[in-house]
Amino acid sequence: MNIYGGEVNKLISELSHLPGVGSKTAQRLAFHIISMPEERAEALASAIVNAKKKIKYCSCCYTITDSDLCPICRAPGRNHRIIMVVETPRDMAAYERTGQYDGIYHVLHGVINPALGIGPGDIKIAELMKRLQGDVDELIIATGSGPEGEATAMYISKLVKPAGIKVSRIASGVPVGGDLECIDEVTLLRALEGRVYL
Ligand code: ZN
Repeated sequence: MNIYGGEVNKLISELSHLPGVGSKTAQRLAFHIISMPEERAEALASAIVNAKKKIKYCSCCYTITDSDLCPICRAPGRNHRIIMVVETPRDMAAYERTGQYDGIYHVLHGVINPALGIGPGDIKIAELMKRLQGDVDELIIATGSGPEGEATAMYISKLVKPAGIKVSRIASGVPVGGDLECIDEVTLLRALEGRVYL
């Protein structure tokens, strides 16, 4: 039964497409938005539209940037033959803070998560495979240590190994991806240096 009317249902439906938002959460958010002062709701809507318009993905590593290539992919001093696969641009920033990694990155923008309906085609795996057609010596998989991060690492490893590229996995014990920014640099470095070859 259509209790709320078309516009409210449209808002609920749009919100329910967001990752991790079920129909109950979508309803709660929709009613929160409806009760906002008009200017707050407009600010939210225009922030979404502007972010979408101005921010884009690096055409090489898919991190968020406002130019075609991000500063790391552009840097001549980096080792472009070593690629570290991370879940999010925030994870990439965390490894950059260690100041000790001189390779480049590939940002997946998520992990495979069947429970949320996120399959390999929903994250940047095909884009990674395309990059691996170039000169690459090693792929370091730095997805999180939770079940989805591990499954994603295994999935990528199985895809890549037949190509004869060295594949390694950061040492376990590093908390789940997405929270890497909260981990100190020493722990991250230890995870990187203790990586195991698959
Ligand atoms: Zn880049």
